[in-house]
Amino acid sequence: MKIRIETPIDEFTNDLADVIRIFFGEGATDATEAPDGFLCHRHTAEGEEFQEVCVLTVGDASYTGSAEGKVAGSAVERKRLFKRLVKRACYSAMTEFTGRHPAWGSLTGIRPTRLLRQAMERGMDLPCSLAELRDTFDVSEEKLGVLSEVIASQGKMYREGIGACDLYIGIPFCTTRCSYCSFSAGTIGNGKQVEPYLQALMKELAAGQRLAAEAGFKIRTAYIGGGTPSSLRVDQMEKIIDAAERLYGPFEEFTVEAGRPDTLDEEKLSMMKNHSITRISINPQTMNDETLARIGRAHTSRKTVEVFTKARQMGYDDINMDVIAALPGENESMFAYTLEQIRKLSPDSLTVHTLAIKRSSRLHESGYRPEQEASCAAMVEMGREAAHSMGMHAYYLYRQKYMAENLENVGYCTPGRECRYNIDNMEETANILAFGACAISKFIPVGEERIVRAPNLSNIEQYTARVDELVMKKEKAYFESIRKSKEENNDSSNFCH
Ligand code: SF4
Repeated sequence: MKIRIETPIDEFTNDLADVIRIFFGEGATDATEAPDGFLCHRHTAEGEEFQEVCVLTVGDASYTGSAEGKVAGSAVERKRLFKRLVKRACYSAMTEFTGRHPAWGSLTGIRPTRLLRQAMERGMDLPCSLAELRDTFDVSEEKLGVLSEVIASQGKMYREGIGACDLYIGIPFCTTRCSYCSFSAGTIGNGKQVEPYLQALMKELAAGQRLAAEAGFKIRTAYIGGGTPSSLRVDQMEKIIDAAERLYGPFEEFTVEAGRPDTLDEEKLSMMKNHSITRISINPQTMNDETLARIGRAHTSRKTVEVFTKARQMGYDDINMDVIAALPGENESMFAYTLEQIRKLSPDSLTVHTLAIKRSSRLHESGYRPEQEASCAAMVEMGREAAHSMGMHAYYLYRQKYMAENLENVGYCTPGRECRYNIDNMEETANILAFGACAISKFIPVGEERIVRAPNLSNIEQYTARVDELVMKKEKAYFESIRKSKEENNDSSNFCH
């Protein structure tokens, strides 16, 4: 289905397209000479009372959706409310046409918990905040249940993250490239890029320590992600861990996202155990070998079991596993098999991802569409049931563009195994000092709806060559955020150290 959008307000074209894609998938609003339908948006206003009407015309039939309400407050607030009305009108027209009510309704943002938090900050309790989300966006009861669980699980950890600072180190290398990958990670190949990369990383880490000291940041948690950090040699991994501990430690929590089971062995596990690593991830994605081969991962399910068992024997008591719903060729019974194998291993946390087919992935190029294969929603629900059956609860949730059936990723864990870095990162409460190609540092003044981001270059060679420039960029971003915060708060910095 191809739909052409007509709106008198150009800046809402992308928002209307986002809603249409919920119903008809990627490419539904791409330019075409012969669209199947037209979505016409009309806007009328009387003072602060706005009315938005969207009419979808398909052949001789038309389907109308409307939304009205008061648009008031600050410029940012007005824009947000206006946008919400436009999207809701479009959503109603689409619902009228399709008869469908998608699980997340008209909500297209990546962090639904933020809306709940905002409502709660306005003085509403959790049930009223959930009801507001349902009434405003048509979010299903099922998803409200997941959100409610996440908010309850985060408890005081959410508040402790406000004003804190975490450390992130990115290792953008993998042994092979997964077919769904859109990340700019390089395959490690002969490893030639690794040493120059590590030199640049060490330089950036040392410079970051000066910034942390000047800013008064006490680093709370550390996270080495990727890519696949364990695709490096053991001495290279140790160099990074050692630098993180020496320059920024000790940490309350230190995660290494080992990722691919084929990159872990006893030597690496032992080295990490001798340092202060508290949490690792061993990610099967699926326990079906034919799928692993199809998606381009160079390990087997047997290897996953072997490495997991070894890690447990060595005393790792906080191990996360990731799975992905709707991988190519997988149906519900294959996903059930994966969950059953994971249940036998009994990890401490399980992250249930929904396949996202980003434009730069091989899977997108191949034209794969998960809806053609199986019900992703059913698999996501199975993942939730499996997590509950292992005594886990949902503790963080986020959504991405291009996710199958517009669903979500949910992190589950057993009590006490919540990863604080994940909560801070997803809820955007803590400052993050981030190092390495593609890493994004974030400075978040307490009490302000403002995040200053300092992204590093994603290309490995460019990152390596221009690391000095990136160090300066990060410092500039931090000091600018401080200056603005002081200006806006009568010279009293709102950063909490
Ligand atoms: S492990 Fe992650 S970063 Fe590496 S290729 Fe696969 S999806 Fe991409």
